[in-house]
Amino acid sequence: MTNRSPLVSFSESAASIVRTKIVATVGPACRSEHMIEELIRAGVDVFRINMAHGSIAEHEESLTRIRGISESLFRPVGVLVDLAGPKIRLGELPNGAVECIEGDLKRFVRGTCSNSPEEFVTTYERLVDELSVGDSVMLADGTISLVVESRSTTEATCRVIQSGTVRSRQGVNLPGAKLSVQAMSPVDWQHAEWAATVQADFVSLSFVRTAVEVRLLKELLRTHGSRARVVAKIEKREAIDNLSSIVDAADVVMVARGDLGVEVDVAVMPMLQKKVVTMCQRYQKPVIVATQMLDSMQHSRRPTRAEATDVANAILDGCDACMLSGETAIGEHPRLTVEMMRRIAMATEAQYLSSRSAGGSTSPEVLVEGLHPITQAVVDGASKIARELDARLIVVASRSGITAQSLSKLRSGVPTIGVSDNVTTLRQMALYWGVTPLAGVDSLDANQLLNYVSSWGLREGRLTRGDRILLVAGIGFGTGGHNMALVHEV
Ligand code: PGA
Ligand code: MN
Repeated sequence: MTNRSPLVSFSESAASIVRTKIVATVGPACRSEHMIEELIRAGVDVFRINMAHGSIAEHEESLTRIRGISESLFRPVGVLVDLAGPKIRLGELPNGAVECIEGDLKRFVRGTCSNSPEEFVTTYERLVDELSVGDSVMLADGTISLVVESRSTTEATCRVIQSGTVRSRQGVNLPGAKLSVQAMSPVDWQHAEWAATVQADFVSLSFVRTAVEVRLLKELLRTHGSRARVVAKIEKREAIDNLSSIVDAADVVMVARGDLGVEVDVAVMPMLQKKVVTMCQRYQKPVIVATQMLDSMQHSRRPTRAEATDVANAILDGCDACMLSGETAIGEHPRLTVEMMRRIAMATEAQYLSSRSAGGSTSPEVLVEGLHPITQAVVDGASKIARELDARLIVVASRSGITAQSLSKLRSGVPTIGVSDNVTTLRQMALYWGVTPLAGVDSLDANQLLNYVSSWGLREGRLTRGDRILLVAGIGFGTGGHNMALVHEV
């Protein structure tokens, strides 16, 4: 074990354990060294680097900063590289913006630049070929809607149904349309390779439609030596239609409400969120709820009542992590927003856990890929033992992190310390609900580990003499070790 104190900043939060994880999107408002440190201290567990914006050089600089600060604080923090996927965007518009007025006609044409306010070009060449009369086209985050009225070989003519102002390079959503566009563009491939090179902990794919697309990305990352966990962003009708196979194929799932709420009727989106979260419980996959969670805090120091309730409800649904987008990327109050999210999570979790312990079995229905049935049984047992003995902590030693993931999905509520001899695994644990990755552990020997965690717990005021802690050791643990659950009295 290393002698240095591994948990300088952990102690700051020792009095207030938050189990729900916070994912924060990196952007101009938070990418300075100072802000990244503030956000980690405020409670960010994973940073999302959005490849749809900015340059590789910029992203690499952000990543290097995050890694450096995370190390100096002894706080494993994950990095999620978010691939834009087949998101269709408008090209350049005359003067950067165009007014769409109800009843107007607009034409989608080929090319990269439009010369008239009646003409739109997009990043998807075949759009004109694949639109059909009657299809709806949504612009500006769904605030503007158009319907295709006629089509020729060179253009698709649309009537504006709902007015608004659209800007250059904004997204184009085609609810319900089945496009032949590739899941990953050549640029996405490059970005995925970059993610592998910089050892990203998570890589997400936008606009996933099928499980095959998820497997394709997994394969690509694997062949580039990456251990990144793949996140499937659920933001299309087709993904909802193929939900169970996508969740099964993915390592992590995101309810990407920004686009989902445009691609399907926003009125049904709340129940779809619950459906996705429930599916992830079935398959024991961590799930992130994303977009507009505390949106008004981009400009305000307080959230709306509805936003505070949204965060709480996502946690009650069973999400593992909540994501901030514009709030941290371009907002005026990134730190306040993270603090607010953390406070809502803390207030909600107590209630959530007491209602769950009154409920029935928490055993999973589907075994997670890579998890041995023995490990599953040990994890199940450990979580019950920990509750029955009122254990203060569960310590889970895991090489791949799968054991920690499974334990997390059982929601025992007993604070869990994740240790690993693999730094990527540690950073991935940062996303798992209720699991706190502990840096500085370099041996997974059971006795050493228990001594280490005990003395740390005593020093930090997390443990007192006589407290019970539970050690769970996963498959492949240590040198030829076995799966086990071990009760230890401090
Ligand atoms: P985005 O994904 O922010 O990359 O669009 C999240 C969402 O659509 O909610
Ligand atoms: Mn999206």
